[in-house]
Amino acid sequence: MTDDFQRPVLTPPDGQKKVLLHSCCAPCSGEVMEAMTASGIDYTIFFYNPNIHPKEEYLLRKEENIRFAEKHDVPFVDADYDTTNWFKRAKGMEWEPERGARCTMCFDMRFERTALYAHENGFPVITSSLGISRWKNMTQINDCGERAAAHYPGLAYWTFNWRKGGGAARMIDISKREHFYQQEYCGCVYSLRDTNAHRVSQGREEIRIGELYYGDAQ
Ligand code: SF4
Repeated sequence: MTDDFQRPVLTPPDGQKKVLLHSCCAPCSGEVMEAMTASGIDYTIFFYNPNIHPKEEYLLRKEENIRFAEKHDVPFVDADYDTTNWFKRAKGMEWEPERGARCTMCFDMRFERTALYAHENGFPVITSSLGISRWKNMTQINDCGERAAAHYPGLAYWTFNWRKGGGAARMIDISKREHFYQQEYCGCVYSLRDTNAHRVSQGREEIRIGELYYGDAQ
């Protein structure tokens, strides 16, 4: 990250200054958080990711996110790990590919809870760190976010593309600077299964949870 980088001032929809940020993990939200802080946006992190499996991985991702939020003095809402509901909604979609119908369900579920919390706690805008990953389909995420926000009058989903303007590269720089835990699969048990199958087909070892951190020699 260059020291002379000047962050543009970002403006949430309707000129609002208060945002509920759905965060999937510290690496994806680090850049989003620093961009919002630099723009003087009053934001709170909402961690609701019952998709993440196993629990050991879920706790690693969550603790890393809490550590970074505390460092920035940003409020952190730790929502339920209601895996029973997640698996219920994923039933029949176990073999869907990434970016398919199971992922739409997964984004819908996480954004529905985010939108409900925003509605009940006076946040006019929600957004998410999910779209910063180049593995994700931005249109799919934005559609889910807007669908969730549409349940509540006056609530907007901010479709800002956090990848652009060097955001994707800064996400990696921040992750290395902070020595964040580096997850190696999207999150659910099915993405773990499919990523491991791919790795084995390439002659690589299966994922070892809790071992890889940004900045470590790989
Ligand atoms: S691959 Fe990722 S987005 Fe898709 S269902 Fe699994 S955890 Fe959710």
